[in-house]
Amino acid sequence: MSHVCQALVITCMDFRLVDQTKKWLDEQNLCNNYDLISIAGASKEIANPSDDKNREFLLKSIGVSCNLHSASKVVLIHHSDCGAYGGQQAFFSEEEEKETHEQDMQKSAVIIKEKYPNLDILKVYAIIDKDGKIEFKEIA
Ligand SMILES: [Zn+2]
Repeated sequence: MSHVCQALVITCMDFRLVDQTKKWLDEQNLCNNYDLISIAGASKEIANPSDDKNREFLLKSIGVSCNLHSASKVVLIHHSDCGAYGGQQAFFSEEEEKETHEQDMQKSAVIIKEKYPNLDILKVYAIIDKDGKIEFKEIA
């Protein structure tokens, strides 16, 4: 069996995301062909680490995925109402919340690229509606 996978996915650990994220990744033709880091706030600890060691640890894990499994792409998935960001109530508007996540994903992408310039980075913002249904939006 080959130990090669297409991508590394870094997503939030929030249970509301698990099933629909897996389904969405399948639809992106990644069907179980990815390494997975599931952590509170997804890439928040890369962009704005509460401790520099957390960023180092995550960058090291990205290196493992690249070097051991030849992942060529990192998929960052942030989401609305994320507890690691204080939830929806921490923001004045949905736009402000989305912008904050976009900025953190952009910052993370730059930091990841500095260390691993050959990686493609896909940024995704997942909006959870009031019924728990999730819309995944790719961020340019
Ligand atoms: Zn979250």
